[in-house]
Amino acid sequence: MPDALPVVAVLATGGTIAGAQADATSAGYKAGSFSVDDLLAAVPQLAGIARIRAEQVANVGSQNMTHDVWRALAARVDALCQDASVAGIVITHGTDTLEETAYFLSLVVRHDKPVVLVGAMRPATALGAEGPANLYNAVALARHAEARGRGPLVVMNEDIHYAREVQKIASAGLCAFSSPNRGRAGVMHGGAPKFYSRNATTHSTQSEFSLALLEKSGWPRVGIVYAHADLQADVIDFMASVCQGIVLAGVGDGNATDAAIAALTRAAAAGVAVARSSRTGSGLVARDVELDDAALGFIAAADLSPQKARILLMLGLSATRDPAALQHCFERY
Ligand code: GLU
Repeated sequence: MPDALPVVAVLATGGTIAGAQADATSAGYKAGSFSVDDLLAAVPQLAGIARIRAEQVANVGSQNMTHDVWRALAARVDALCQDASVAGIVITHGTDTLEETAYFLSLVVRHDKPVVLVGAMRPATALGAEGPANLYNAVALARHAEARGRGPLVVMNEDIHYAREVQKIASAGLCAFSSPNRGRAGVMHGGAPKFYSRNATTHSTQSEFSLALLEKSGWPRVGIVYAHADLQADVIDFMASVCQGIVLAGVGDGNATDAAIAALTRAAAAGVAVARSSRTGSGLVARDVELDDAALGFIAAADLSPQKARILLMLGLSATRDPAALQHCFERY
């Protein structure tokens, strides 16, 4: 292997990309069955583009992603970013919460070195498994100069997405990832990226957040309440008793029943940070449209999905409890 090739660190966390079935056509499978060495062995072409340094950080289905794994992952990514011998970092991940890990890292890892998250919709043992091609593209992107300074990126199905914008939009099928509000960042073509846009918001080197701040504040607990017809107050009252922040996955423009809004207003008055987002999957939740956010003490989550608003509110609460300052976070990140 030529010494001149760049070093790319591959941190494996599990997921379908490492999943195994009983046979190549069955729908059932177990995520996180194969090791990082198995994944790399399936893509011998990697030896032509990078020297790989592989590490197994976890081996879970990403529905079981935890703050403990995030802590370990962020610390490891931070260390590798400071290692001058490493050109870029790839993280293999289950697809269910891939977008959450990517967004979290975009706010706590304050370096401009490429970090690329990748997964697969088909298990490693499936007919037409796309994991090997995705992994090849991820390594090719992580070693590329044009990937620098964009914060963590996601590569799936030859598309490149920014961490803030990407969402899993389908539970099955190869076209499961999209950036619904601002569009994909670019595409991988012949092993090289073609970028269409820059990130629209603050991330990585410009972020005011850090793992140290989170540890100091004890990882503020933020829950998500999903709005629906006839939503009652009691679930929100309970959430307010155990959480420092609540994200409303609201109907339409971040809305909910009068009973739910009254409960959220009580929570905000008691010092719980309340952010309104939308369950619709795209669009903007702006301040003071149908609700008087200033009077109710609410924060509008702009175009962040509920699951990403939860992460930003947690990080915001690690720095401040002031609703105006928290609102500013939602305008900036
Ligand atoms: N639930 C599993 C996970 O997120 C499988 C989904 C996938 O990786 O595609 O790890």
